[in-house]
Amino acid sequence: MNLPEIEKKILKFWEKNKIFEKSISQRKGKPFFSFYDGPPFATGQPHYGHILATTIKDAVLRYWTMRGFQVPRRVGWDCHGLPVENLIEKELGIKTKKDIEKIGIKKFNEACKNSVFRYVKEWIATLKRVGRWADYKNAYATMDKEYTESVWWVFKKLYDLGLIYRDFRVTPYCPRCGTPLSNFEVNQPGAYRDIEDQSVYIKFPIKGKANNFFLVWTTTPWTLPGNTALAVGADIKYAKVKVGEERYILAKERLIILNEKYEIEAEILGKDLISFEYEPIFPMALSKPGYRLVSASFVSIEEGTGLVHIAPAFGEEDMELGKQENLPIVVTVDEEGRIKTGLGIPGEGKFVKIADEDIKINLKKRKLLYKEEKIVHSYPFCWRCDTPLLYYPINSWYVAVTKFKTELVKNNQQIHWVPEHLRDGRFGKWLEGARDWAVSRNRFWGAPMPIWQCQIGKNQKPSLAIAGRGGRRGQSPLRSSCGEIKVIGSIEELKRLSGKKPKDLHRPYIDEVTFKCERCGGEMIRTPEVFDCWFESGSMPYAQWHYPFENKLLVGKAFPADFIAEGVDQTRGWFYTLHVLATALTLRDLGLGVARPAYKNVIVNGLILAEDGKKLSKRLCNYTPPEIIFEKFGADTLRYFLLTSTQIGEDYYISDRRIEEVWRRTISTLWHTFLFFQTYTDKNFKPAKNFKPKNLLDCWIMSRLNHLVAQTTKAMDNYELTDGARGIDGFVDDLSNWYIRRSRRRFRKPESGKEKNEAARTLYYILLNLTKLIAPFIPFISEYIYQNLTKNYKLKTVPRTETKFLVRGKNRESVHLCDYPKPEEKLLNIKLEEKMQKIREIVAKVLAKRAESGIKVRQPLNELRITNYELQKEKELLGLLKEEVNIKKITFGKTLKLDTKITQELKEEGIIREIIRNLQEMRKKAGLKPKDKISILYSGDPGLNEIIVKNKKFIIEETLTQNLSLLKSPKKELETGKEIEIDGIKLWLAIRKTYGEPGRKS
Ligand SMILES: [Zn+2]
Ligand SMILES: [Zn+2]
Repeated sequence: MNLPEIEKKILKFWEKNKIFEKSISQRKGKPFFSFYDGPPFATGQPHYGHILATTIKDAVLRYWTMRGFQVPRRVGWDCHGLPVENLIEKELGIKTKKDIEKIGIKKFNEACKNSVFRYVKEWIATLKRVGRWADYKNAYATMDKEYTESVWWVFKKLYDLGLIYRDFRVTPYCPRCGTPLSNFEVNQPGAYRDIEDQSVYIKFPIKGKANNFFLVWTTTPWTLPGNTALAVGADIKYAKVKVGEERYILAKERLIILNEKYEIEAEILGKDLISFEYEPIFPMALSKPGYRLVSASFVSIEEGTGLVHIAPAFGEEDMELGKQENLPIVVTVDEEGRIKTGLGIPGEGKFVKIADEDIKINLKKRKLLYKEEKIVHSYPFCWRCDTPLLYYPINSWYVAVTKFKTELVKNNQQIHWVPEHLRDGRFGKWLEGARDWAVSRNRFWGAPMPIWQCQIGKNQKPSLAIAGRGGRRGQSPLRSSCGEIKVIGSIEELKRLSGKKPKDLHRPYIDEVTFKCERCGGEMIRTPEVFDCWFESGSMPYAQWHYPFENKLLVGKAFPADFIAEGVDQTRGWFYTLHVLATALTLRDLGLGVARPAYKNVIVNGLILAEDGKKLSKRLCNYTPPEIIFEKFGADTLRYFLLTSTQIGEDYYISDRRIEEVWRRTISTLWHTFLFFQTYTDKNFKPAKNFKPKNLLDCWIMSRLNHLVAQTTKAMDNYELTDGARGIDGFVDDLSNWYIRRSRRRFRKPESGKEKNEAARTLYYILLNLTKLIAPFIPFISEYIYQNLTKNYKLKTVPRTETKFLVRGKNRESVHLCDYPKPEEKLLNIKLEEKMQKIREIVAKVLAKRAESGIKVRQPLNELRITNYELQKEKELLGLLKEEVNIKKITFGKTLKLDTKITQELKEEGIIREIIRNLQEMRKKAGLKPKDKISILYSGDPGLNEIIVKNKKFIIEETLTQNLSLLKSPKKELETGKEIEIDGIKLWLAIRKTYGEPGRKS
């Protein structure tokens, strides 16, 4: 079987016959199922993580479609932000933001725009290859003018609600990209990495006391010139120790860091150290008093010295403390992360991490470095350009998330999370600790922020990065003398004010749009920042439909989404921003009094790792690319692996071996059951539209299937995708390794026509319903089997009296246009399933006993004693047991016992079975069909011959033989000829296909 080739044909069939489109149009007027697709960046190629999320989305959406819902699926592309900008910078050989300004924003942004869809073809090709059904033609793009207009509308709403403000604050900042990042961008997986860093203990001279020092520890020597205070813990005990001729003050608990012998001279509480002054180690001109000791609650004695170096410009806590203690702010680093020149700081002009070394050497020379160590600690990096991040003071626009944190937490309770623990765990905790969201980026390629500001107030704008003077932190231009702020919510509004309608909303065009200040007549100019691209993707429920300018009804119907799905990293990304914006907008704007979430159900998948638990890495070549997996095992195999190998939410361990196992165990087994059906039914076979199964095995498999239908439906209704998909595997195993194996004989005997029909009818019913059941998970193989079943066989209706059930629903053009099967209550038989389970348990025990005594299953044995009196009357079931374990008679007693005595008669029967098995294999090898007849040629031991003659009738029946010929010696020229050995006796066997009546030569 060549699944990949079949899949490609099916893809063509779907495309040509517009099956996806039909799956939506045929549900017109039916209940609406809303799905939001998280827009990926098409600037990079899709990888396994995307394939996983897309498989989950596709399976769930196909399921709800078959359940009778109308499920439109629009994809979207994330176009803006650092991923694109970084790519273009690399290609244009640009190293800094200033270089971009040199070549011009126009040229730069055009290059960005042209590369946004660079890999969109590859993306669509990959998604389609996985079998993902979606409307690719009408995709939305976050850079569209209409999209941006809706983003403006969202922002303006928040502004009007008093949820937007501007502040001068220390934020995570990428010096290479020259922009602040939000706290959740810094929490993206992989942002924090363990690195080796400098760790130094510095001596701060105590003012007026020669040879007396405060001992201070830091891992960022470059922040030392920005130091304006030292913090102690008020209740921490400090010690003054004598070391040689010098005296140090540090926490008593931290004396362990001292290298030499010391002598404690005094003990002092932290609060008694407050207001002590010290000599700055890099003196700067201060705007107000600094270089003194203050107390802070965050000081700990777990590491360092219990004295914390405070540089308000370079730490969030430092800045907070600075505001509280009225400390001066000294910014000694420029916006590109380099030490400012002209301030007398060692390493000036160098990037801070490099200047660390210069500063250290300088302090060493001045004997202010007590000791240095290398430490490994986790440090954040820019998620896009890999530059170490700094904490840096900058003016940014914020969404006041903390103002509606309680509502965020409460609103989250309405969301059904899979796995459930995320609701109050990872996501819930994240919401409880939510911070205000920095939404402005000092960049170029993004949706422009719709904020215009009066230039009259411009001079009073807080000045950034003025060393020695400090900014007017917290003082927003909103409060300065004019500095009028106007936030624009639509293109129309902008046109009304400026008289211009910009063709393109991107920079630099939008920057050219100015208008008069309504308050003072000054010139209103746009603030240069662009939006954080997460603000844009979080606005997609409204912006993808250009709401509220268009599609009001549609958005009303589609909000909130019934379902979304992405990776676990999105708990601090898209899941979060969707939730923040929806909560703010619904709570405040709709005046409902209760907030509504943006999505009702969310499936969150874990990461995909290599088999050894490492990240997939192109460099390490520790995984096989998806294209190759598709070609080797088919998309269905990969899909089923992703859907079943791991509980939703856990991490995946991917390897060819594991995928191949899924192929062998499930996909190939399923395929072979279908092949079996095809092989053993001829063209005249007419499946019954309705009939009443009588045979016990038939009843059993019917019950099993209907149970599975009920279980799968329940799991899928609850979005428990793993449980939904996993049941199929066990069923396919039961179907192949019990139902078909134990029914083989019924299929094989053409002469007992009635019996054969019943087995085939049953298998037809099972396969037909199974294809519908598995269609959402493995859409290709199910389609293939369904097409064959419905096109090659015509349904026949049998008289009502025989009816127990109906094959539900009409045959459709595609399995994906069918309704999902419903469990047939009438066919459920729990008692039978339980009894069958018992029989199979006994089988396992007997097989183990046979293995213990070294007797093959092919060797018949006389008697088996079992303890299950409840089965005494179950003749049919006991018959199955006898056949399966090859036993003549079953008796009942207290203990399970297998009679292992092999009589001459049993031995002969064993030999015959061995011969038959070999003949069956030869038939298979020769490519014979079940109905093809053969003649057997054999030659060997006279004793064996006697046995064969005695059992001639049985052999003929079992192998569809017309005649048996004993030869004096083997005919070596016969291709099928083969010498076998049974119990040490040699026998030569060969078969020949025969035609017509017995005795006629072929
Ligand atoms: Zn960066
Ligand atoms: Zn003004």
